Amino acid sequence: MVIVGSGPNGLACAAALAREGVRVTVLEAEDTIGGGARSAELTVPGLMHDVCSAVHPMAVGSPFLRSLDLGRYGFEWCWPEVDCAHPLDDGSAGVMLRSIDATVEALGADGAAWRRVFGVPGRSFDVLSEDLFRPVLHVPRHPLRLVRFGIAAAAPATVLARVFKTPQARALFGGIAAHALSPLGRPMSSAVGSALICAGHRFGWAVARGGSQSIVDALHSVVHEHGGEVQTGVRVRSLVELSGADAVVLDLAPRRVVELAGDRLPRRVARAYRRYRHGPGAFKVDFAVEGGVPWTNEACRRAGTVHVAGPFEEVVAAEREINRGRMPERPVVLVAQQYLADPERSAGDVHPIWSYAHVPSGYDGDAQQAIVDQIERFAPGFRDRIVASTARSTSEIAAANANYIGGDIITGANTPVQTLIRPRLSLDPYSTGIPGVYICSAATPPGAGVHGMNGYNAAQSVLRHLN
Ligand SMILES: Cc1cc2nc3c(=O)[nH]c(=O)nc-3n(C[C@H](O)[C@H](O)[C@H](O)COP(=O)(O)OP(=O)(O)OC[C@H]3O[C@@H](n4cnc5c(N)ncnc54)[C@H](O)[C@@H]3O)c2cc1C
Repeated sequence: MVIVGSGPNGLACAAALAREGVRVTVLEAEDTIGGGARSAELTVPGLMHDVCSAVHPMAVGSPFLRSLDLGRYGFEWCWPEVDCAHPLDDGSAGVMLRSIDATVEALGADGAAWRRVFGVPGRSFDVLSEDLFRPVLHVPRHPLRLVRFGIAAAAPATVLARVFKTPQARALFGGIAAHALSPLGRPMSSAVGSALICAGHRFGWAVARGGSQSIVDALHSVVHEHGGEVQTGVRVRSLVELSGADAVVLDLAPRRVVELAGDRLPRRVARAYRRYRHGPGAFKVDFAVEGGVPWTNEACRRAGTVHVAGPFEEVVAAEREINRGRMPERPVVLVAQQYLADPERSAGDVHPIWSYAHVPSGYDGDAQQAIVDQIERFAPGFRDRIVASTARSTSEIAAANANYIGGDIITGANTPVQTLIRPRLSLDPYSTGIPGVYICSAATPPGAGVHGMNGYNAAQSVLRHLN
């Protein structure tokens, strides 16, 4: 078996197959493994930055990752005191904690509404995830729970937000819903945010000790322990190069699969893969900051994740703009302060601060100033504390990972259809239609994020084929 790409899904697929006694080789184009879960010293020596993914509610809760018992390889999750905060101009903030009771209390007048929407699915997210992490066309194991979650998830975020009256709760919900990178007035635009909130209440918005790289390193250890191998610096350009393998799994965006497979793809599949839509981009900046970010709001100073985007209406406007191909003056900026949970990532009093702004697909301007301005708005004095920084534009992100077309870090737009059905309508969405060739990237169900479930599900299709 050959797996092309060592992202979390490629490695999860390799681990799932190796565990079953299949001999696997993973081929990775870049010099290091991990795809969207790499970590490196990007600014000053001794500071560990996450190159891509930073915060992992879905990975902590991933049924497959949990089944691997990654602690055996020295892997550990760490939790910040506050999971997520969303500051507003008056110095207040919407605050989400792992405990729903503490969140309800922090949200005051909107606490009861938060519990009404997210209480039950949050409490049972591990059970719910048995359905959510599978392709949409399956017989649900927990239909009633799924329907209850689905009613909220199917709503446009602008509609679901109406249950909240305070600017803090509305902004908190809007900032989390914006993880979908889709216009928030669209049907299904609550789905990604609702899942992140419920996963957060069940498992917390954890970070990996030592950096996200530890997640893929642990997966690599599982593959290695079961006799598999990973080769880096090998860019596969055609399926012909892999003709000796019994089966091939591609941890790639559908468009990349078309390039590799050429005429071998059935025409209807090639058409569906070409039509697969990519979403807006990201502009990433990593900072080394002396003394940390001086947030005005106290909860933000203790939060692993801070959504820097102003009130709900501003979030809605910014997401609408990027989806129309226009750069907003005040973009949605995500900030992570992983060092609060994992202090060894810092060097003395200089701390790694992770951030990215949502920008239009292929945006070729410089968004660094807009990011600094947004943070400075809620943390006056931030600019003066920056010791070093490094930025990556949409084209640099795409150059570092062939899956992130136009800087689309979630490998596919969350349109209403693609949220449910990706990369094409099929009983086996992991099959490419070529016998023995599969796709397992974030373009397959259950979508983006570091949880490895796409890779695990694809491995089940492969095992059916091999048997
Ligand atoms: C800036 C950023 C922030 C993010 N933040 C988060 C977060 O906080 N939490 C979260 O859960 N998710 C986050 N994500 C998303 C998450 O990283 C991805 O959804 C996830 O990595 C997808 O995994 P994957 O295995 O499908 O593909 P990828 O991680 O994209 O891996 C694909 C791999 O295939 C390799 N490859 C491509 N083409 C070839 C080829 N021809 N030959 C050989 N190898 C090839 C690539 O080099 C890459 O290593 C973020 C992503 C980015 C970029």
